[in-house]
Amino acid sequence: MAGIYVHIPFCTSRCIYCDFFSSTDSSLRGGYVDAVCRELALRGGELADEVVSTVYFGGGTPSTLSAGERERLFRALSTVVDWSACDEVTFEVNPDDVTPAFIAALRDTPVNRLSMGVQSFDDSDLAFLRRRHTALAAVEAVTRCLEAGYDNMSIDLIYGLPGQTLAGWDGNLQRAMSLGVPHISAYSLIYEEGTALWRMRERGVVKECDEDTSLQMFERLIDVLAAHGYEHYEISNFARAGRYARHNTSYWQGIPYLGLGAAAHSYDGRCRRVNPLSLPAYMRAINENRVAYAEECETFDMLYNERILTSLRTCWGLDVKRLETDFGPERTQYCLEQARPHIEAGRLAFADGRLRITRAGLFTSDDVMSDLFWVD
Ligand code: SF4
Repeated sequence: MAGIYVHIPFCTSRCIYCDFFSSTDSSLRGGYVDAVCRELALRGGELADEVVSTVYFGGGTPSTLSAGERERLFRALSTVVDWSACDEVTFEVNPDDVTPAFIAALRDTPVNRLSMGVQSFDDSDLAFLRRRHTALAAVEAVTRCLEAGYDNMSIDLIYGLPGQTLAGWDGNLQRAMSLGVPHISAYSLIYEEGTALWRMRERGVVKECDEDTSLQMFERLIDVLAAHGYEHYEISNFARAGRYARHNTSYWQGIPYLGLGAAAHSYDGRCRRVNPLSLPAYMRAINENRVAYAEECETFDMLYNERILTSLRTCWGLDVKRLETDFGPERTQYCLEQARPHIEAGRLAFADGRLRITRAGLFTSDDVMSDLFWVD
């Protein structure tokens, strides 16, 4: 079992908080799509004979692709993907791109799941973040997707904006609940170095939401979504029954995947490969029929730490027996000893052979997880 990630690094405009690899210059897009198809031909063998069970088009903004560009990508992918055996094919969309013609055309492709960057249902939040859609456009786009039969869809929301109130966040949650999408990803606003938002804070133009308010928003998120039947299955992800994001879940479970496109990552269970973070460098290499990724293979200790980090993020937690099988008694003993004070303080729970972060532990989950890391 394996996954494929396809990075589409083109956006119509730049959101102030964004540090994803993407460009607002669409002139290279056609050539880039051809390069991704060629990369798949060069690297498809890395999937060995694994069945591809998930495909994810992320960005950037995949919904900026033209019908012809989408068609070229699907034709290339069909050489390595048996779509009838592929459980989940996700396409990230921007509300502004979801026209009736777009969604009708997408229904003729293998895409069976949508992930929409809504971020907020408040026009002043959207203007501040420099999103290119309005709240109304987002509501109409979600409705259009659901009516077109995309009942497996997710929306992204952001909380903890400067000046955002609890009442404002509640309003966002209520609007999201009224739409009935089965999956929600919600993130606190991050000030990534180098972004416009980060510079605004440096210049004193904006003031960060204080930590208490941000934590209260996280609490509200968990409560409201639980009350509406969503399971909190990963720190930032909530799903109704059976609607987990399978592709992202496979990242947390260490399942191999092939990443195509500039800045895309691949993982074979031990080594990570990272494609060039430059469109010209990526396209030049592929056009010369060579791959140009940098590779880093994880040591035993890194793999152990990765297991701690990825399993404790999820509701399934850390399987201690499996930890012992894969990493031996010394590290397992160490893990349980390090976990003990967190269990006593109620931040971790140990049941059914699994360690899980509790609700109380969610608010300091980074510290809890790093205490379990192996440090030489
Ligand atoms: S649409 Fe997404 S990838 Fe593009 S600039 Fe905005 S946040 Fe970044």
